[in-house]
Amino acid sequence: MISNKQQLLDFLHQNQPVTVLTGAGISTASGIPDYRDHNGNWKSSPPIQHRDFMTNELLRKRYWARALHGWPVLFHAQPNASHRALAKMQQAGLIGTIITQNVDGLHQKAGATDVINLHGYANDMVCMSCGAQSPRLDMHERCLALNPEFADMDATALPDGDADIETDFSKFQIADCLNCGGILKPDVVYFGDTVPKTRVAAAKQALTDSGGLLVIGSSLMVFSGYRFARQANECHQPLAILTRGKTRADDIATVKIDDDIERVLV
Ligand SMILES: [Zn+2]
Repeated sequence: MISNKQQLLDFLHQNQPVTVLTGAGISTASGIPDYRDHNGNWKSSPPIQHRDFMTNELLRKRYWARALHGWPVLFHAQPNASHRALAKMQQAGLIGTIITQNVDGLHQKAGATDVINLHGYANDMVCMSCGAQSPRLDMHERCLALNPEFADMDATALPDGDADIETDFSKFQIADCLNCGGILKPDVVYFGDTVPKTRVAAAKQALTDSGGLLVIGSSLMVFSGYRFARQANECHQPLAILTRGKTRADDIATVKIDDDIERVLV
């Protein structure tokens, strides 16, 4: 019987260059927690919604107090063997553009060049008033300086730069935009937010120009990723899925590999 690894290689060789879409499952081996279980359901509470972040100051204080402990995990994370294997396949021409739903930047750290961060990049900040961009490390250092009492708490990191702290957050002081005093937000697409149109268009075009789609480590529960599986299907392009558990596109996949990502890719 043909192995899962061979099945994947055959798919790549027959359809190269293949567009790749990656989700949280590829980064768990780098110590970044995944927020959905094998059935695509939330493991704990769902992440913050865009509207809540913008309109509810207490929720925003809670977000930043928790991020002081959760985000360093993202910031210091290193690419794993799967990220490196994909970067090599890209250099070899087997795969083309990597579209990622992850905001950890690990494909780029692994040496991949043609990458679209569909949901943004967690280490960048953007001001919601003046649009100024800044490194997230600055914001965190300013928050730490303003809130020493929140720095020494025991916490476990949760997905999305979050951590499991519950306390009175009302005293937390948020560092605002140094330009204009506006609200700073990580430059990522939150739930309830939309992916910028130009970014979606670039990703769709990349898929159109390639020989097929390979989805890795995503249950495709979020429409922003699922739409690419649909596009491949509508355009009669082959679709392969490598992920643990069921996905929203299993019924339209040409090849479905339910296995450990690293075991198949590396
Ligand atoms: Zn500003």
